Amino acid sequence: MTAYDYDLFVIGGGSGGVRAGRVAASLGKKVGIAEEYRFGGTCVIRGCVPKKLFVYASQYHEHFEDAAGFGWTVGTSTFDWKALIAAKDKEIARLEGLYRRGLENNGAEIIDSRAEMVDAHTVRLTKTGKTVTADKIVIATGGVANPHAALPGHELCITSNEAFHLEELPKSILIAGGGYIAVEFANIFHGLGVDTTLIYRGKEILSRFDHDMRQGLHKAMVEKGIKIILTDVIEHVAKAPAGGLTAKTKCGETITVDTIMLALGRDPNTHGLGLDAAGVAMDERGAIIVDEYSRTNVENIYALGDVTDRVQLTPVAIHEAMCFIQTVYKDNPTSPDYDLIPTAVFSQPEIGTVGLAEEEAAKRHAELEVYRAEFRPMRATLSGRSERMIMKLIVDAESRKVVGAHILGHEAGEMAQIIGICLKAGATKDDFDRTMALHPSAAEELVTMYSPSYRVKNGERV
Ligand code: NDP
Repeated sequence: MTAYDYDLFVIGGGSGGVRAGRVAASLGKKVGIAEEYRFGGTCVIRGCVPKKLFVYASQYHEHFEDAAGFGWTVGTSTFDWKALIAAKDKEIARLEGLYRRGLENNGAEIIDSRAEMVDAHTVRLTKTGKTVTADKIVIATGGVANPHAALPGHELCITSNEAFHLEELPKSILIAGGGYIAVEFANIFHGLGVDTTLIYRGKEILSRFDHDMRQGLHKAMVEKGIKIILTDVIEHVAKAPAGGLTAKTKCGETITVDTIMLALGRDPNTHGLGLDAAGVAMDERGAIIVDEYSRTNVENIYALGDVTDRVQLTPVAIHEAMCFIQTVYKDNPTSPDYDLIPTAVFSQPEIGTVGLAEEEAAKRHAELEVYRAEFRPMRATLSGRSERMIMKLIVDAESRKVVGAHILGHEAGEMAQIIGICLKAGATKDDFDRTMALHPSAAEELVTMYSPSYRVKNGERV
């Protein structure tokens, strides 16, 4: 009999928290899990899932146009934003229900309340003021959109949170940022017919990606009609006299649009959580500091997912939760493996990637072989669309291992997931060469790039 109310108390009902709570409960632990908003967390409620539904919605406009090249006559098409929001909300409610049922069916106690730490073993449920105690505590409160409070007029802007619930689809939007969210939403809004401008402080969008992906996507977005402003930032936002908002930029541009969206990264959600009271250490960004087993400096308190600001991705939070279970409840200390995480940017065209960008690989390996193919995909032949696909394999010349794979084009994310398995298994370029092509497909290019496009020796392209 434990001296505490719970064996495990989880704060935060997102991907990481729910997984930790559900699996611990299935092992017979007494689990309580508190969530202040909705179960499912950022990913399900206002992130990956609704975003992907919006991506699908935004692609129809091109599908209708492309259909003509294949002999179809499509009637007048119109788009109903409210219908999309309603359908999306219904699906999200269904998924939230699944998350809740998964917890309930395994015997975890669901608590719909904000929870704050009182001390290392005690949590206050703010809805009722009741305190509960637990042997172990997992903090999985995720992240919050960076509000960019230093920007005058930031309170007039939206973040991705509001983008999922806008009353009306704006006619024009200015999106600040050059990361995943800015780029994905620029493509979504453009696809839905919104006059879209993206403004980013760097020299090229998607700073952490391979340069061919960044440039290829930039070009494709501009060709579609998305305006991209580089090396500039919004310095001031105010209401425009005729309605909408006006942004003034550092380089002197004045941009008037219906809506301005800030997509400037996400901060760890630790504000007011009582971590000081519990003695839990955080870094300067407010992220909870953890060791290789997701344990904080307080022996019985663990933290996982975005609140630790390691890799802000849903599957990573879930993986960290499973490692926590192995370590704490299965007597099998397991630290998360962050090597070779496949990832996608659901832009249009998509980017799918796993492993090192060329620039990063060049720093780690003395000699690289770079295989690069750029081509017009078959689906674009009859549609007449000018889109190009880019595929790139980065090979360590010494070991012959493929250390990076990068794809720009339709279904790039789906391909990156599969290539992720190959890279994880240590596939060499020779393994790719030995693999029969699947014809006709776009992916066959990955196994038919026989000679290197160029080499990189000691960081220099030769
Ligand atoms: P990102 O970290 O991807 O991008 C943030 C962007 O904001 C960067 O371009 C950054 O510039 C810029 N930025 C940051 N601070 C400022 C500032 N003060 N002024 C001007 N620009 C600034 O964050 P997102 O918000 O796009 O997404 C958050 C996280 O969510 C991502 O890290 C990602 O892991 C995850 N995510 C994953 C998705 C997926 O897997 N498909 C989709 C959406 C989100 P710079 O690059 O120069 O630093």
